[in-house]
Amino acid sequence: MSKIISIKNISVIGCSGSIGKQCADIVRLYPERFSLRAVAANKDVCEAVRQANEFGVKYVAFSDTSVADEYNLSGCKAELLLGEEGILKICEDPESDIIVMSVSGFAGIKYTLHALKCGKRVAVATKEVLVSAGAIIKQYIALYGGSIVPIDSEHSAVMQCIEAGGRENVNKIILTASGGPFRKMCLEDLYKVTPKDALAHPTWNMGKKITIDSATLMNKGLEVIEASVLFDCDADDIQVAVHPQSIIHSMVEFKDGSTVALLDNADMRNPILYALSYPEREIRKTPPFDIFSLPPLTFERPDFSRFKCLSLAYDVLNKGGIYPCVMNAANEKAVELFLNEKIGFMDIYDFVSKRVEETANISEPTLLDIIEADRYARR
Ligand code: MN
Repeated sequence: MSKIISIKNISVIGCSGSIGKQCADIVRLYPERFSLRAVAANKDVCEAVRQANEFGVKYVAFSDTSVADEYNLSGCKAELLLGEEGILKICEDPESDIIVMSVSGFAGIKYTLHALKCGKRVAVATKEVLVSAGAIIKQYIALYGGSIVPIDSEHSAVMQCIEAGGRENVNKIILTASGGPFRKMCLEDLYKVTPKDALAHPTWNMGKKITIDSATLMNKGLEVIEASVLFDCDADDIQVAVHPQSIIHSMVEFKDGSTVALLDNADMRNPILYALSYPEREIRKTPPFDIFSLPPLTFERPDFSRFKCLSLAYDVLNKGGIYPCVMNAANEKAVELFLNEKIGFMDIYDFVSKRVEETANISEPTLLDIIEADRYARR
């Protein structure tokens, strides 16, 4: 008997970024499965309106209210919503099945919590949200019945590996890391790295913030914390393996000693498709994965002495409380300063660790504590 398959309505918060555009691509490839219900951007009117008109969305929203004065939006066929209120309206829209959270950084927290409060499935690409407010997000899921599915490729892989072997049998999670562009660079040369050097990632094509985070390995540190939130485990249960080919997207070792790995092309559309179609699986329309064209796969232990951001993240995860939030906020600020050539590459760690050190922890922070800690760490 054939199953009745319904079309899922997707709303993308952060439609103009790298993940947002690749979400649009998935909807374009699978019109029989997904429909774009709403798109939201900060102020990239051009891309948002283009998507809105191509997909015939119901709502288009901009968090920056000044766009209404600065641009002529008469060519936009969708209903226009402005400011934070407008984006919250998209998050609570009863017609929307899945909210994709792909805004850059901490700003996504309010929207994520609002969507969860409305019982939505939130496909999260913005790891900063999970890192900063993990405990509160878990409370909301327990209270209101919404759910989180990761878009981050490593966590998508871990989720799929866990599905294969069962949550109760997990021994440890092994997150793979490309190692970034400076994997082999000596300490002396690391001090001379410019934003341009750091923005050239060897295997993934991504936004600026995450590309810098990949170069410092802070991205992997944030992902260790993200994994602890998503899969309810401690720092000790999560290991990082440098795997420069980015073919294995992560692994899970089970208690019987067997390890399950997920192999695929380095194409974010694959974890996006999984997050949008879960628990179903779709027939692939992106380029096929070909094991015969693979380079030899290698694994190394990360060098914690050169990439201190990774050990800082483990430290912060062990301490808990507001520290993950403080580390994340300080890192967002430090990356911004580095991109504007105000601080050097190796200053990123110093800046972040100093902000963490000078903060007194709060063990069970409320949402207000988190928002305050975030604001303070960026001052
Ligand atoms: Mn990732």
